[in-house]
Amino acid sequence: MIYLPLRLGVTGASPRLSSGSLVDLPNLSVLVTGLEDWREDQATDVGEERLLHTVQTILGAQVLRLKTPPRGPETYGSQSNWFDDAHTIGVPVAPFPRWLVCSGCRLLAPIVSVLFESKVEPYRPDRTRYVHNRTTSKRSPIALPARFVVACVNGHLDDFPWLDFVHRGQPGCPGPLELYEVGTSGEASDVEVNCRNCGRSRRMAEAFGIENQRNLPACNARRPQLRDHDPNGCKEEPMRAMLQGASNLWFPVIVSALSVPVGSITAGCHGGAAVSCLSRNWRIGPSALNR
Ligand SMILES: [Zn+2]
Ligand SMILES: [Zn+2]
Ligand SMILES: [Zn+2]
Repeated sequence: MIYLPLRLGVTGASPRLSSGSLVDLPNLSVLVTGLEDWREDQATDVGEERLLHTVQTILGAQVLRLKTPPRGPETYGSQSNWFDDAHTIGVPVAPFPRWLVCSGCRLLAPIVSVLFESKVEPYRPDRTRYVHNRTTSKRSPIALPARFVVACVNGHLDDFPWLDFVHRGQPGCPGPLELYEVGTSGEASDVEVNCRNCGRSRRMAEAFGIENQRNLPACNARRPQLRDHDPNGCKEEPMRAMLQGASNLWFPVIVSALSVPVGSITAGCHGGAAVSCLSRNWRIGPSALNR
C-alpha cells in the first residue's frame, strides 16, 4: 500500500482521487483503493446535512457521515522537507494494472513475478518504480505498466488477459510473454504481444471494437480497488478492452451543495427567512446529481 501525498499536483478534493480511479505517476500507474484503507484520523467531519441526505438517498442509509480527504497540518503546504512525517499523509493507492513491461527487453509479466523488483523511497512515493533484474546490463531497466485493461459496464475492472489472449483461449502455455510496438503510431493496432515460449503472437487491435469483443473472456466481477470479486458475480459477457488512462474508463458520481454558514445567515436581518425558505424548497432529485 502506498499513501499518495496530496501535493503531487492533484488536490484532495479532486474527483480523480476517489476510490476506483486510476492515477498516473511518473513510473507507475496506481488505483485509489476503497475507503477501508483511508486513514480516518487524517480526515475531519463535513457538517453538511443536506449533502449527507442526498448521498444517503443515492447510496443508502449505511452512509453515516461525510469526511474530508486526508489532511496534514495547516503549514504542510509550505513545507519543502520531503522527510517530514506529513508526507506520509495521503490517499491510499495500489499499483494497477498489475502487469509490467520491461523498457529494455520488452518482457511482459505480472508485477508479483520474481522478475521485477520494487524500488520504494519511503518519503517520495511518487518515485516508486519497478525494475527488471534479470539482465546482463549494469543498470536494471525500469518496468512500466502495460497500458491495457479490461472493464465491464457494471464497473468491474481487471488486468488484460494476456496469456488467454495471445494463446487464443488455449490453456497450458505459461509464457513468458513480450509486448512491443511494430509501428510508430503508438496506437493499439501497432502493438503486438508475443509468447517467447511457443512463438504465438497477436496484434492488440484484435482486442478492440465490438466485432472483436468475442476475443475476450467473460467478466469475472473483479473489483481491484476493494481487492475482491463482486459476490453477486457479473453476467456481462465479454469484457471490453480499454487503454489505461482513457477518459471513458472511469466516471465519478459528483454531488455538490451550496454551503451557507449558519452563523452568517442568522446574523443578517433576513436570516430566519432564508433558513426557512431553504428548508421549504430543498428537494432531492436528478437535478441535484452530477453537477
Ligand atoms: Zn528486461
Ligand atoms: Zn505460449
Ligand atoms: Zn462485470
